[in-house]
Amino acid sequence: MKSKIIKIAKENLADLVGFASASSFDKNDPIFKIFPETKTVIGLAFRVLRGVYRGTEEGTTYYQYTTMAVENMEETIMPKAQLLVSNFIEANGNIAVPQRRHQQIMQDENSTNPEVAYDSIYRNKKAENQLDFTATAVKCGLGEKGLSGALLTDDYGPFVRYCFILTDAEIEPDEVKVAHLCDNCGKCIKACPGKAIHENGEVNDWQCAVYYNGANGTKNPFMPYDAFADFENRIEIIAGEAKVTPETARKILDNIYFYPPAQHAYQCSICGRACDTACYMHLEEKGLLKKKFKTKFREREEWRFSLEDFEQPIPTP
Ligand code: SF4
Ligand code: SF4
Repeated sequence: MKSKIIKIAKENLADLVGFASASSFDKNDPIFKIFPETKTVIGLAFRVLRGVYRGTEEGTTYYQYTTMAVENMEETIMPKAQLLVSNFIEANGNIAVPQRRHQQIMQDENSTNPEVAYDSIYRNKKAENQLDFTATAVKCGLGEKGLSGALLTDDYGPFVRYCFILTDAEIEPDEVKVAHLCDNCGKCIKACPGKAIHENGEVNDWQCAVYYNGANGTKNPFMPYDAFADFENRIEIIAGEAKVTPETARKILDNIYFYPPAQHAYQCSICGRACDTACYMHLEEKGLLKKKFKTKFREREEWRFSLEDFEQPIPTP
């Protein structure tokens, strides 16, 4: 059964497939609330094309990352693979419970998901039965958790998305990977255009949402020079220095309309996941990634606009 599951998953674009025994999870883990009979958790990880980061890297086109690396993966590619593997499991008389990250449900009343519009998120403590995705992926042997919280894989570094299937079939588990990729270099922290990652690696999700959406004008080719004209701290915001609260973040996000969003409430990533690309480059430089490319991720100096462009006086109407 295991080899057939791997075959179906890989035929349907999963790049990594891992298995964890339910016995490796705490008895209070959400997997048992979702499906108490769970015996095995199957993890499926899908590479994110390196090429979809090019637009942000060059400062040219921005929709590829969001449509190809987020929206299509989450809404089409991953569910298809999950469904076909699940069909096989159920054809064999076992139950398969697919678990995809629900992008618009947050467990905490006051949190957000930078990848979707903040006002399309359902925040309710009752919605607490979502898996801890990174911890579950680690248990399935897909990779390790990096300082920034990203799942780091041997082949693709942080350039992956992943989902799971819970099943009552008993399948031989894979070994949990011994952490060996993250060396706490801090490059993910330094790369964030909005200082959203604390030095202990904790991500402030509202800070991330504001800068994922492009509030840093020095890294946003679409921002007009008079952006955030009504904000007293507009230069701080544009410089990536503003410290936001959930309330001020909402206000700033309402004023970021320089680039169209993708579909299904997905927001366009203007930061281009700079935290992940910095990590990827670091792992690539150290020769740790198994999937090699003929060229380095970054061949040229990183571009950045001058803050002075935004400091010229804004005419009053
Ligand atoms: S950039 Fe460095 S510190 Fe951050 S996750 Fe990657 S290896 Fe770890
Ligand atoms: S680089 Fe982008 S995705 Fe990463 S923490 Fe900063 S704003 Fe969020």
